[in-house]
Amino acid sequence: MFSSLSDRLTATFKNLRGKGRLSEADVDATVREIRRALLDADVALPVVKQFTAAVRERALSDEVSGALNPAQQVVKIVNDQLVEILGGQSRRLQFAKNPPTVIMLAGLQGSGKTTLAGKLGKWLNGQGHKPLLVACDLQRPNAVNQLQVVGQRAGVQVFAPEPGNGVGDPVAVARAGVAEAVSRQHDIVIVDTAGRLGIDAELMQQATDIRDAVSPDEVLFVIDAMIGQDAVQTAQAFADGVDFTGVVLSKLDGDARGGAALSVAQVTQRPVMFASTGEGLDDFEPFHPDRMASRILDMGDVLTLIEQAEKAFDNKDAEALASKLEGGEDFDLNDFLTQMASLRNMGSIKKMIAMMPGAAQMREQLEAFDEREVDRVEAIVRSMTPHERTNPKILNGSRRSRIARGSGMTVTDVNQLMERFSQAQKMMRQMRSGKGMPNMPGMGG
Ligand code: GDP
Repeated sequence: MFSSLSDRLTATFKNLRGKGRLSEADVDATVREIRRALLDADVALPVVKQFTAAVRERALSDEVSGALNPAQQVVKIVNDQLVEILGGQSRRLQFAKNPPTVIMLAGLQGSGKTTLAGKLGKWLNGQGHKPLLVACDLQRPNAVNQLQVVGQRAGVQVFAPEPGNGVGDPVAVARAGVAEAVSRQHDIVIVDTAGRLGIDAELMQQATDIRDAVSPDEVLFVIDAMIGQDAVQTAQAFADGVDFTGVVLSKLDGDARGGAALSVAQVTQRPVMFASTGEGLDDFEPFHPDRMASRILDMGDVLTLIEQAEKAFDNKDAEALASKLEGGEDFDLNDFLTQMASLRNMGSIKKMIAMMPGAAQMREQLEAFDEREVDRVEAIVRSMTPHERTNPKILNGSRRSRIARGSGMTVTDVNQLMERFSQAQKMMRQMRSGKGMPNMPGMGG
C-alpha cells in the first residue's frame, strides 16, 4: 500500500536527520523531493501544488526554526498535511433516524462495488446490524448472481429481481428492495448499482434515478486505487453526476502507485470512509486519515493492528487459557497450537507486520516471510500424541524423530519448534508470576 511513495518520503527525511538548523535551501531541497515523490506516485498536480506550498510555508516558519529537532518537526508537518489531504477527521457511517439506513454504492465497472457490498454487509452484521443487499446491477451479465454468492459467503441476505419480473428496471428493483427490508425488519439496505467501463450519461442518469427513488443516507463512491491519474476525473464526474457522501478506496493491496486515490478526497471534498485491501471479505477496514498518514510515513499504524488482533483473537480461548494458568497448570503445546491458529485468523501476517512502525525497512525480509510457516508448526504439533502435547517434557530424541517423520519435517524443524515453544512457555510463566508481559513496551498497568 503506497509503498514506493512511502520509501521515497522516508528517504527524503533521512537526508535531514542530524541537521541542527534547516536553511531555506534545505527546506527547498526537501520540498522538491516531496513534490517529485508525490508526482511519481500519481498524485494530481493541483493537490501536489497545494500540499508542497503548505509544507514549505510551515517548514520556513518559527514552528521549525524554534523546534528542538527541526527534522522531526518537518516530518510532523508532512504528516499533518497528509492527514489533511486524506480528509482530516475519520468519518463514520451516518445511520438513519428511522431505519432502514440506505447505503448506495456507485462507481465504474470493476471498481469493486459488488465485493464491497459483501464486505460491508459482513462488517455491519458483525456489529449487530441486519443488512440486506439489493442487486441493482442488471447491466453486467452475472452481476446479480455474483452478489448472491458474495451475500451467502458473508452470511447476509440478498434481494434480487425474480427472473422475468422487473428485470431491466434497476430503479424498480431498488424500490422493491427497500420495501422488502422494511417488511423483513432489516435495519440497513446496501444497494449495489451498475457501472460502465467509462463514464457515460446513461450510467449517471441511472444512478441518479436510483438515488432519487431510495433517498440513500450514504452514497459511497468506490474507486479502484490502481487506475492512476484517471481517478480524479472519474471521481469528479461522479461527484457532479450522482454526488456522493463518501469515498471507498479499493484494491489498495495492489502495488500500483495509488497516489491518484490520495487526490480524490481533496479534489471532491468528500471523505474517504473505507479501504478495501484484497479479494477476501475481511480485507476491509474503516479508513482513518491519521493512521494512513502514519503508515505512509512509516510511523506504523499500531491502532489498526491492535483492532485486528482483538478481532482475530478469540476471547473465549484467551479466557480459557488465563483460567488454566491461574489454576496452576502449565502452558502446553495445545495452547501453543490454539495461539498459532489465531495468528492465521489475522489474515495475512505480512499485512499485519506492514502496519508496524519501521516496516518499510523490513520490507525485504517481509517479502521473504513464508506464511506456510504456520502450516508447518501445525503439522508438527498435530503429529504428536495428546499425551505428548500436554507433557512436552517427554519429547526425547526418538519421539522427536517419529514426529518429524509423521509430519514430513526434519528433526531440526521439530527442535526449532520446541525451542520456540519453550520460550513462549517461559513468557507465560513470567506473566503468571505477575511480572506482566515481557518485552512489550507500553503495555504497562
Ligand atoms: P464491480 O464491477 O464494481 O461490482 O466490481 P467487483 O466487485 O466485481 O470487483 C471486480 C474485481 O476486483 C473482482 O475480481 C474482485 O475480486 C476484485 N476486487 C474487488 N475489491 C478488491 C480489492 O480490494 N483488492 C483486490 N486485489 N481485488 C479486488
